[in-house]
Amino acid sequence: MVRYVYDFAEGGRDMADLLGGKGANLAEMTRLGLPVPPGFTVTTEACRAFLATGAEPEGMTAEISRHLTAVERAAGRSLGQRDDPLLLSVRSGARFSMPGMMETVLDIGLNDESVQGLAKTSGNERFAWDSYRRLVQMFGSTVMGVDTALFEGTITLLKEAREVQDDVQLDAGDLAWLVETYKSLIRDETGQDFPQSPAEQLRLAVLAVFRSWNGERARLYRKREHIPEDLGTAVTVQRMVFGNLGADSGSGVAFTRDPATGRPGLYGDYLSNAQGEDVVAGIRNTVPLTDLERLDPESYRRLCDHMGTLERHYRDLCDIEFTIERGTLWMLQTRVGKRTAEAAFAIAAELAEEGLITPDEALARVSGDGLARLMFPRFDTAATGDALAHGIPASPGAAVGAAVFDSAEAVRRAAAGEKVVLVRQETTPDDLPGMLAAQAVLTSRGGKTSHAAVVARGMGKVCVCGAEELTVNTDARRFTTRAGTVVEEGTVVSVDGSAGAVYLGGVPLVASAFMRYLETGEQADGIVAAGARALRHADAVRRLEVRANADTPEDAARARRFGAQGIGLCRTEHMFLGERRKLVEEMILARTDAQRARALGALLPLQRRDFVGILEAMDGLPVTIRLLDPPLHEFLPDRTELAVRVATADARGEPPTAHDTELLAAVDRMHEENPMLGLRGVRLGLVVPGLVAMQVRAIAEAVVQRVRAGGAPHAEIMVPLVGAVEELRLAREEVEQVLARIGEETGVPVRCPVGTMIELPRAALTAGRIAEEAEFFSFGTNDLTQTAWGFSRDDVEAEFFAAYLDKGVFTASPFETIDRDGVGRLVRIAVDEGRAARPGLTIGVCGEHGGDPESVHFFHAAGLDYVSCSPFRVPVARLEAGRATL
Ligand code: ADP
Ligand code: MG
Ligand code: MG
Repeated sequence: MVRYVYDFAEGGRDMADLLGGKGANLAEMTRLGLPVPPGFTVTTEACRAFLATGAEPEGMTAEISRHLTAVERAAGRSLGQRDDPLLLSVRSGARFSMPGMMETVLDIGLNDESVQGLAKTSGNERFAWDSYRRLVQMFGSTVMGVDTALFEGTITLLKEAREVQDDVQLDAGDLAWLVETYKSLIRDETGQDFPQSPAEQLRLAVLAVFRSWNGERARLYRKREHIPEDLGTAVTVQRMVFGNLGADSGSGVAFTRDPATGRPGLYGDYLSNAQGEDVVAGIRNTVPLTDLERLDPESYRRLCDHMGTLERHYRDLCDIEFTIERGTLWMLQTRVGKRTAEAAFAIAAELAEEGLITPDEALARVSGDGLARLMFPRFDTAATGDALAHGIPASPGAAVGAAVFDSAEAVRRAAAGEKVVLVRQETTPDDLPGMLAAQAVLTSRGGKTSHAAVVARGMGKVCVCGAEELTVNTDARRFTTRAGTVVEEGTVVSVDGSAGAVYLGGVPLVASAFMRYLETGEQADGIVAAGARALRHADAVRRLEVRANADTPEDAARARRFGAQGIGLCRTEHMFLGERRKLVEEMILARTDAQRARALGALLPLQRRDFVGILEAMDGLPVTIRLLDPPLHEFLPDRTELAVRVATADARGEPPTAHDTELLAAVDRMHEENPMLGLRGVRLGLVVPGLVAMQVRAIAEAVVQRVRAGGAPHAEIMVPLVGAVEELRLAREEVEQVLARIGEETGVPVRCPVGTMIELPRAALTAGRIAEEAEFFSFGTNDLTQTAWGFSRDDVEAEFFAAYLDKGVFTASPFETIDRDGVGRLVRIAVDEGRAARPGLTIGVCGEHGGDPESVHFFHAAGLDYVSCSPFRVPVARLEAGRATL
């Protein structure tokens, strides 16, 4: 037989699925011997049954009566008893805390007769009528569905008539009048009477709490917090205790530590002569909990004891609700309390220090997201006004600067010492200098993996993208908000990349001490030390190595300071931009081998210099260098711009320059409808003569130079976008030839492992074959996601991902968190077949997912050797790689 009701003495904290968090913890406190008003909990299972059928599950009502009888017997009086009524609270409580999202009804059991009894036994007529009017109001709105505003309106009118400010100033007569008025209000609104039968009140209140699981507020909250829809709420029924019986009574909330900083010591608010809801509602001003020591030393001492008991028992920060009834302390609720990221680190470190939890447990209680939060500077939240616009929080942190509308202006102003925010419709690789110069990047289009977002995150730069409320007019050098505010170039704006908001003017910033620690090793305060401690333990237990994606010596050096164990992805395309673009153009336009060789020859020393710097910064550690990946036309000028230039020259009667004509022809020749699926990656290397040879020569000569300088360079050569083993075989042959040649030329043997990216489904599915030619694999999960789903990551995100998230097609963008079932399956197949063909094959991941906490856990489970992510995500990946082993 299914059981629907558990007495507090029968439950415990491990029964939260069935009893909800509140019910389970009340049971736990009861068993610990803390003073909890007696009661019982109706299970979530009963709720689910009720919501499924619309009827009370069989036997539930009888069970409730039996448990009620036990509570009545212990109290020596019965529910609603005329001369001395037992009153009940009927409280909601789900598996996961949903504070204030569902309903609670207090003072069940009062009616026209028992209110008199309560007045007599309490010796306080006003209190009795106040309790009754609270019941009628709460019951009327929660159970009978009358708009709360109608009750509020009535009491406001009454207060105006009495010329008082505060509910407390209404007397017993006023409150009795309110009860009558509320009752007729309910009758008018619903056609039904407020039920006088206490048993009926209880029955209806329980069902109303069940129904509140599906209230609008609760549903919205669950969606935001990713709480499943089908859990249901438990209902806790408990004897009422009263904090509103006079000056020797009161209610409060308390934490065993400061939830903002984690600092130990009681922390909370107290309100004398009040019920708990008054504290939270903020109707009257509370006093700091420490004042209770003066007001009621005995209760304060007990409270401290109980909270110590709870913290030792739960071995964590607890928060509680309590009520003092005429000098007697009652515990009404406890749970492991929510806290800021800072507090999470501080508390975990301190409890581990005290020996209350193990270092593993301490690590489990912090998170990579929390660590990232420690790293970013912040806005002083007290100082923000209304936002100009909202967008996608693409790269967290806070930045202030003058709005500028192109890369050149950003660079110019930054060089003059001005802080700027680069505002674009969307960014392209051309904007890179401007992005580097800017404090933040703001775009009106594009999603979390748009160019702006990926690059900004890689640089640890604040970014809000896809702020569609903004109209960016680059030519006029201003943007306009939907509300019509016009922001001209040079106007200071503040960008909150954590919240995805933009503000007018400069919101003050608070710097991050943890960032200083990572850069310098300086442990400024306890929170920094706590973060450092968590990282150290993660490093000690993790199996996954963490490398960084870095393309410059500066990034490589920073990554190393942040704990990177090498470079998992060194892209070479940035090395083709800027002033070198001319040389790239020459290479593309070359009509003879000699012309091409000259262009490549000019690029060679520049590339070599880049590699020398990076290998030096990562001396002794592996540096995986990817051969050129993007389609070549990305390095040519924009077609429209070029065509306009040619046409205007024509219109002026001047012949366009031969160079422009040639360029235009090249752009047209190379145009591809789907460049992402076109001539790029290994295909480029196989088709453009000399390209691979030049890049490999630059790498090998850099290695030789470093060896001669006494260094320990470990360059690895990675071939992108391989779909078939034949492609890799051809590319590898060329690589090996060049390496051998340089060995001969220099007398220094150059040994670089050659491997490939696995970023096409075909590569994953033929990984066994590919492993014959590959000395390592690195999953390019951005392209792999793009090609496995058929989503163009440059286009889809802002467009329909929001709808897909809303409809529950996925719970997170697959570009952000690895899609375990699909893309993850490809990863597992490739790992299994790759290692079967080549035991000991080194396998890593270098896509954006390498720095995403949930994805890191997946890569650990899939048996990868390392994850590689942007330098600023390295500490996050280290922490999560440690947590993945727990
Ligand atoms: P929530 O989950 O929204 O916090 P609760 O079930 O905790 O809702 O109830 C709200 C308030 O009602 C509590 O803060 C407490 O002060 C008051 N309350 C609940 N049960 C009792 C009780 N048995 N005696 C006195 N006050 C109670
Ligand atoms: Mg509560
Ligand atoms: Mg790729």
